[in-house]
Amino acid sequence: MNIQDYIKREEKFGAHNYHPLPVVLERGEGPFVWDVEGKRYFDFLSAYSAVNQGHCHPKIVEALTNQAKKLTLTSRAFYSAALGEYEEYVTKYFGYDKILPMNTGAEGDETALKLCRKWAYLKKGIKENCAKIIACEGNFHGRTITIVSMSTDPDARKDYGPFTPGFILIPYNDLKALENALKDPDVAGFLVEPIQGEAGVFVPDEGYLKKAYDLCKSKNVLFIADEVQTGLARTGKLLACDHEGVHPDILILGKALSGGILPISAVLANDEIMLCIKPGEHGSTFGGNSLAAKVAIAALEVIKNEKLAENADRLGKIFREELGSIKSDMIELVRGKGLLNAVVIRPKGGKTAWDVCLAMKEKGLIAKPTHEHIIRFAPPLVITEKQLREAIGLIKEAFRLFE
Ligand code: PLP
Repeated sequence: MNIQDYIKREEKFGAHNYHPLPVVLERGEGPFVWDVEGKRYFDFLSAYSAVNQGHCHPKIVEALTNQAKKLTLTSRAFYSAALGEYEEYVTKYFGYDKILPMNTGAEGDETALKLCRKWAYLKKGIKENCAKIIACEGNFHGRTITIVSMSTDPDARKDYGPFTPGFILIPYNDLKALENALKDPDVAGFLVEPIQGEAGVFVPDEGYLKKAYDLCKSKNVLFIADEVQTGLARTGKLLACDHEGVHPDILILGKALSGGILPISAVLANDEIMLCIKPGEHGSTFGGNSLAAKVAIAALEVIKNEKLAENADRLGKIFREELGSIKSDMIELVRGKGLLNAVVIRPKGGKTAWDVCLAMKEKGLIAKPTHEHIIRFAPPLVITEKQLREAIGLIKEAFRLFE
């Protein structure tokens, strides 16, 4: 089969809910992936920041294979040796009393919303069915009906209504708007991405998160951080909220919690909040399975042992400096934090961000546009400085093709 055959097969038998770059991958290691013809690429998407630890990290794969031979899934109808070990490890790692384990990021967000509503009725005393949660315009929290109910992206919503009520939308990075929205006594929570990733890597003003947190505290409103994409060393700290010393009331993690090996997500909170959900009121067949528990421990160990946050912080500065120095009228702006970066593309002579991504692919680096004109650059955090500089060279060569 040649590359076109692989592409045609996916198009024939798979739903058309994605528009992939025309590259067919079959192997990965560290910051690299290889296509079916053996061509090597720098992976600058990292599965939307799930593969922070690099492709097929040997320590995580070892944890996976060891546990897979022993016990994979029991359901939560029974206790399991691995789950408790993971729960203790992850709660101490992030400084919370409890974890509620789920699978995908969207499920993590759904769980956080449900937990927030429960807390609103049981602890804050909001009248039943009246709780509201503030979210931000431009957000991305996943694809379920409730989550797209608070989306402002027409593609995410069109023809999927009716939607779930109970959300108040405010502009991102706007403290005045938050202050106003918080005047409503029925507000229970504020759900926010510390950096809006899918929207195009929008980094809020310095101090925004801390002030937003303080405003929430002043109104007894839960500050809920969706760190599914920004979390786990991506932005140069373990959590993006750590840049401002904010410890969210509810923390949502996903993606790199498994290093890209399994769908693993988590909601973390203290007892006052987490124990509002009682047995039988929420759950998931696969959430907290033994395989996931061991994989997540290994994935978190790699982040600490290999100092991935420090690497992301240091290399991110080099990346932005180098990309910022490219002389191209197609580059409007370079922004980001750590190794979560984006270039805003100014289309030229009919050429768009998609064409730039095709050119980079030819050079041996894959990345994907988000929202037409923005290219996100997010390599695995195990990338070395030498590899990063080589990758930057490929990006520069690609841009030169459009001069
Ligand atoms: N939250 C954020 C901030 C995300 O970036 C994403 C995915 O990109 C999600 C939630 C949804 O995660 P999943 O695709 O695993 O459901």
